[in-house]
Amino acid sequence: MREYLRKAVNRQQYQTWFGAMRPADDSDGFAFSVANQFVRDWIGSYYMQLLADAVLHATGEARQVRVIVRDGDETPAPRREPPPRKTPPRQVAAPARPERQERRPSAQPRRHRRPPSPSFASGATEMFADRRHPNFLSDVLLNDSYRFDRFVRGSGNQLAYAASLAVADSPGQAYNPLFLHGGVGLGKTHLLQAICATVLERNPETRIIYLSCETFVNQFISAVAAGDLENFRYRYRHVDMLLIDDIHFLAKKERTQEEFFHTFNTLYNQQKQIILSCDSPPREIPTLEERLVSRFKWGLVTEIETPDHETRVSIVRQKAEERGYTLPDDVTHMVADNITSNVRELEGAVQRVIGYASLSGKSISMELATDALRGIVQPKERKITIEAILRAVAEHFGVKASELMGRRRHKSISVPRQVVMYLARQLTDYALVEIGGQIGGRDHTTVIYAVERIAQQIETNGRLRDDVETIVRRLRSLD
Ligand code: ADP
Ligand code: MG
Repeated sequence: MREYLRKAVNRQQYQTWFGAMRPADDSDGFAFSVANQFVRDWIGSYYMQLLADAVLHATGEARQVRVIVRDGDETPAPRREPPPRKTPPRQVAAPARPERQERRPSAQPRRHRRPPSPSFASGATEMFADRRHPNFLSDVLLNDSYRFDRFVRGSGNQLAYAASLAVADSPGQAYNPLFLHGGVGLGKTHLLQAICATVLERNPETRIIYLSCETFVNQFISAVAAGDLENFRYRYRHVDMLLIDDIHFLAKKERTQEEFFHTFNTLYNQQKQIILSCDSPPREIPTLEERLVSRFKWGLVTEIETPDHETRVSIVRQKAEERGYTLPDDVTHMVADNITSNVRELEGAVQRVIGYASLSGKSISMELATDALRGIVQPKERKITIEAILRAVAEHFGVKASELMGRRRHKSISVPRQVVMYLARQLTDYALVEIGGQIGGRDHTTVIYAVERIAQQIETNGRLRDDVETIVRRLRSLD
């Protein structure tokens, strides 16, 4: 019988739903006991036919199959109106096939000749169930590093962080719904998962559904196609917490919006926590029904903004530390300076630098980091200043910057000085007058003359051309 079940569902599902199932003492029919009411309800919704089939397979007899909660009483539980959580455990029952013909048409398992494997509703995205938390259902496994203590706070995200923490502390009480919005890679999913993990840690039995809006939409579509809306509704309306990631996916899906509206109302009215993430504020989700827009704003709408420089530096440090590395400060700043709008990319850059170092066996330096990130990170060109040009030219020609600013006309000074003016013209946005002004208070005609002269000379004088190129490279390089 166990083998039969094992073959019919995937391993996760078997563990979650049947792993702790035991035969129950039952004289008149065939009964199994499970650990809690949620598992009982779930099997009741999706696996009764499979159980009946398994019994038929094992005994050769069509038996009345029932599932009860261990140590529970045996009041029958109508599937359509599942009991509120705290009522005494009940049982669900389904007869094996021969008797099924007489059952009322709403008998659920009939539609599932096979259990809805590998998904909740046939054809939809696979959902995982976590063995440690049998009442937690999701289309992903929770990422261990998406925890509150791994979330770097900064001015752009601390509100979202605080709100998420408050919701995890008192689901259904603090803010309902919690609506987090912000651009890609800014930590929405991280916070959603942190909420799940925290709530489950405190109360492993909490009934949570956490999934992407895409999965929600797919499941709705499959449920409609299979004529199975009843199950769909039952599933989503009997949870303590519903988290839907990337709710903007509801855009232009009017029927799913309608369905979600009712789910929302049901949960909201029971003070069940609803948490949504989105790439935009509610109002900007295209074609989202007004009544949903307004509901999304009932609780707390909070934005995650792009991280400021300080936060990016902390994120780079933390991501390196999590991987057992400490980056030199200049590398940390280079990464933080160059990747500004997406934490995922920031993390990717750190990973790349570290990967590069460990593959090449070299220690992490600015040079290595620049190499590692070439092509991935488009380093923003540093804003080149006239001062920087003065310094670079002075250094290159072995003269003093003050001399370049001064009046001496010796060739060893006047040529580098003209190079400064030329480069200032080429590499900065300053007007001629400003360039002249900054280089020792010279007239703009002097600048024009210098620019033209150097331009001509680098055509014919290879050495000077090399000099200029070297200086430009240095000014543009990251160090
Ligand atoms: P979103 O869902 O908003 O697109 P994610 O939550 O998937 O973004 O975040 C992308 C990556 O960046 C994840 O690896 C996440 O852990 C990380 N991340 C985002 N914000 C932070 C933060 N403030 N502190 C630490 N890691 C972060
Ligand atoms: Mg996300």
